[in-house]
Amino acid sequence: MEYDGANQVNEQTMCLCGRIAAMRTAWTENNPGRRFLGCSYYGRPDACDYFKWVDHPLLHPRYKSVINGLLRNDNREDVLEKKWQRIVFYHRLVLAIVVLVVVLVHYVL
Ligand SMILES: [Zn+2]
Repeated sequence: MEYDGANQVNEQTMCLCGRIAAMRTAWTENNPGRRFLGCSYYGRPDACDYFKWVDHPLLHPRYKSVINGLLRNDNREDVLEKKWQRIVFYHRLVLAIVVLVVVLVHYVL
């Protein structure tokens, strides 16, 4: 949908079914981080098709590529963080087993 200068929306903008429109943020390749208004029932069968951009389009392709690059970096860090947490978990598990064995050996022998 084309941008029609709707960024001066107030919080009482109504959707087609008469509810206060909900503001959301698009994270698509073409509109990363761009806010829009939509039906607050979006995703439900009784939602309407109301849609209106709030932010100006990202005119310079460079902005898009920078934001998309940052988003990909975030995702990469997220994956690394999960891997790191798994490594820490297994190290602690191994340490706990070693301590258990040492304590058992100490008291049994
Ligand atoms: Zn609606």
